[in-house]
Amino acid sequence: MSIADCLAWLRGEASFARGVHPPTRKSLAADQPIEILPPPAMVTVPLQQHAGAAARAICPPRSRVEVGSLIGQEDESAAVSARVHASLAGRVQPLVGVTLPNGRHSLAVPIAGDEVHSRTNAAEPQGIDWFARLYGGSWHVEDQQRYFPRDIRAAVQQAGIVGLGGAGFPTHLKLLPQATRPAHTLLLNGCECEPYLTADQRLMVEAPAAVVTGLLLAQKAIGCERAVIAVEENKPEAIAALRGAVEQLDDQGRTTVRVCQTKYPMGGERQLIPAVFGLEVPTGGYPLDVGIVVLNVATAAAIASAVLRGHKLTHRVVSISGEGIREPKNLLAPIGTALSELIAACGGLADDACRVIAGGPMMGFAVTDLSVPLTKGTGGITVLTRRQLAASEQTACIRCGRCLDVCPLGLAPTRIAHAVRHGQLELADQYDMMACCDCGCCAYVCPAQIPLVQYIRQGKAQRLRRTD
Ligand code: SF4
Ligand code: SF4
Repeated sequence: MSIADCLAWLRGEASFARGVHPPTRKSLAADQPIEILPPPAMVTVPLQQHAGAAARAICPPRSRVEVGSLIGQEDESAAVSARVHASLAGRVQPLVGVTLPNGRHSLAVPIAGDEVHSRTNAAEPQGIDWFARLYGGSWHVEDQQRYFPRDIRAAVQQAGIVGLGGAGFPTHLKLLPQATRPAHTLLLNGCECEPYLTADQRLMVEAPAAVVTGLLLAQKAIGCERAVIAVEENKPEAIAALRGAVEQLDDQGRTTVRVCQTKYPMGGERQLIPAVFGLEVPTGGYPLDVGIVVLNVATAAAIASAVLRGHKLTHRVVSISGEGIREPKNLLAPIGTALSELIAACGGLADDACRVIAGGPMMGFAVTDLSVPLTKGTGGITVLTRRQLAASEQTACIRCGRCLDVCPLGLAPTRIAHAVRHGQLELADQYDMMACCDCGCCAYVCPAQIPLVQYIRQGKAQRLRRTD
């Protein structure tokens, strides 16, 4: 056990075995209040922003849409799919193919926005205050008590809500009670353990009542007895804000806020569940196998906004941070906004900016084309500088065993990567390659700079292609 782990244990913080402690670099954007991005001239809204089947475009070119208009109907023939809505008022353009922040491809609906003067009104001459509409104002105990579980699930489905933590699983399916595997606990994940990213942190600080209201609605829809909100100890303001909101809104006292050690990858559900409950999710299984449903804090806020205020999932908070950004910020932006617009709203790239990453530096994806659109699951953009990337070159494995020591799933990263490099997928399977959660801890500590996680991702992609 490291000194950091011992101290966390003494402080009573929830933790898990292994993992790493990269510099968090949160201070760049953690104190920046959420800003509303002015409506861009154009958005490009992907039809495949979620796990499962893509949505089907339903608006012909030249159709007029408002923010929240349905533009992509879920594929009803598929078990898993989700709706997509317009995030800008304007006219639909012909469908285009786009690359997503995670490198995958999708058809997308471009929308050319109205003139700026028609995006405002007398009450909001500076533009619509989306933060106030979605998450601001007062939230009351009685509000969420009015809704039945089926109404909550229907509103979530109609709003096209999917996991905003990145996985993108349609949330209405997560809220369905399972007769054979009932959930006893809802775990709200507020750890946001990736370095630099602060979108969830700001949402917890600035909209704690919306987060807790969404949690209580989700708990009711699932029918579970209790809820736990897990937050890393490096976010004391968020912890205090959430505790205040729980006291105000949870009249049955079934929700607790659990402080977790600041450690990577605490936000991974396979690490968070053992840390908070001491339960192991079986390899190849799901949290529900141990009676737990996990939601992200931003997903909870979106649930509150959809059920109580009728808003569709058209905007999200995204942090734009890193030493390669001139003015790191947290922006509330329309889904489908080009990453270049988000970066421009933050003063642009620094002179020595070198790599743009969709997500954080540990699990994110390098982006080369900044026209890539913001998706529901993109919580952050990180820009690193040339100096940060000027690390030493890759060398041969020195068999130091560090990658084994830190893998939170107890895998043998070097063996899996070696098997993939030599085309031995069956051997990689024997080492449990598919259990890898892509956390990147192994590559982070490797003194030989071997891109272990990239090899493992490659192997998993090859395995999935062969299975198809
Ligand atoms: S093998 Fe996978 S799960 Fe283990 S440290 Fe590497 S990336 Fe993380
Ligand atoms: S950390 Fe790198 S050098 Fe050390 S055993 Fe793993 S792959 Fe080899």
